[in-house]
Amino acid sequence: MKIIVLKFGGTSVGSIQRIKNVSKIIKSYSKKYRVIVLSSAMSGTTNKLINMSKKISENFPDNEYDVLVSAGEQISCSLLAGHLAANGLNSRSWMAWQIPIFTEGKHKYSRIKYINKTKVLKFLNSGGIPIIAGFQGVNKNLNITTIGRGGSDSSAIMVAKFFKADRCVIYTDVEGIYTTDPKKLNSAKKIKNISYEEMLEMASLGSKVMQPHSIQDARLNRIDIEVKSSFVDKKGTLITKQKNIINNKVITGISSTDNDAKVSLIGVKDRPGIAASIFKPLSQNSINVDMVVQNISSDDKETDLTFTIKSYDLTKTKKIINKNKNIKFKKMIIDKNVSKVSIIGVGMIATPGVTFRMFQSLARKNINIQVISTSEIKISVLIKRANVAKAIHCLHQEFNLDK
Ligand code: ADP
Ligand code: ASP
Ligand code: MG
Repeated sequence: MKIIVLKFGGTSVGSIQRIKNVSKIIKSYSKKYRVIVLSSAMSGTTNKLINMSKKISENFPDNEYDVLVSAGEQISCSLLAGHLAANGLNSRSWMAWQIPIFTEGKHKYSRIKYINKTKVLKFLNSGGIPIIAGFQGVNKNLNITTIGRGGSDSSAIMVAKFFKADRCVIYTDVEGIYTTDPKKLNSAKKIKNISYEEMLEMASLGSKVMQPHSIQDARLNRIDIEVKSSFVDKKGTLITKQKNIINNKVITGISSTDNDAKVSLIGVKDRPGIAASIFKPLSQNSINVDMVVQNISSDDKETDLTFTIKSYDLTKTKKIINKNKNIKFKKMIIDKNVSKVSIIGVGMIATPGVTFRMFQSLARKNINIQVISTSEIKISVLIKRANVAKAIHCLHQEFNLDK
């Protein structure tokens, strides 16, 4: 029998009743496949654990963070395996260290490198249904690691890779990937097929339905992903190679972020290398600078520089800039009430005028664009957070995504 990987997100295992419901889904596959299950923590659990670490100390160490927050998956996996086993199925839970799932990189943001298949495969081949904890791994010293928020998606893709699974199904609380977050726009439409490239952009630009790393891993390993709902039995979305997709729309989807902050440095003494002097210490401190605009100085002496970062990096960023002896500026202005709205689609490569249509449509709604950034398949604009819903609504209409 072929192997299938099923991943259940936090909401899907969010209550006892839902865990019982998920057991039924698992059981239905077990007649046709050797099933490997990946589970997230019950919804809300990871957040609760993170809040506890913050209450203990603002400087809670990253290695202890990993031990703490990975505990959520231990609860959901044991409940799920326990329910299956109590109902006569051969099932047990597996924490990452028991397999092991090896990761590399820093605590909190590790990546899965290698999975030792031996023990799980033996169990699988004896008719067992392993319930594996998502989100966690161990490093080469066998210390517990985690792989970033939403990381169970990556766990599932990597398990599918190492076990050479025939399919990988991500069960979540919506029916698939939509043109935009269906919880924010009622007229969002379910997408049948989407390319890795477009899904990677959507995920990186704020559509949290899939963790960005998981899409990178799927693309590298050519693993098709089916995203569907654990609440209703309906066809979901297939994330796959571009050549498997026919799409007659210019834009495939719209994403938005809600954790950006804008930093403007006014009256920066201009000289060659000034931007590098500002950004080098930020990158050395793992602060990801996203959008950047530098105004051309009128007198060749002073310039204004604006960039965006994640709002959780703001305190650190302010400190680093104020400490930086290599730069001089008159004023630093911070704006936390901004969001990035992006339109994404491979269709824009061959279609002229997409940028104009986006800007015109926002202008008609009186939405001011603060910063712009583009790539081959996406256009992003930074706007006031209060305008995000309006912007998504008008862009969704402009590019006929309602139809
Ligand atoms: P899980 O716990 O199953 O991993 P997540 O909460 O991480 O689920 O992701 C699912 C959520 O992603 C949905 O409830 C939805 O609100 C949100 N979402 C954002 N953008 C999209 C999109 N384009 N399509 C579908 N869902 C989206
Ligand atoms: N439980 C983890 C989180 O909330 C991992 C996941 O849900 O994928 O981030
Ligand atoms: Mg998720």
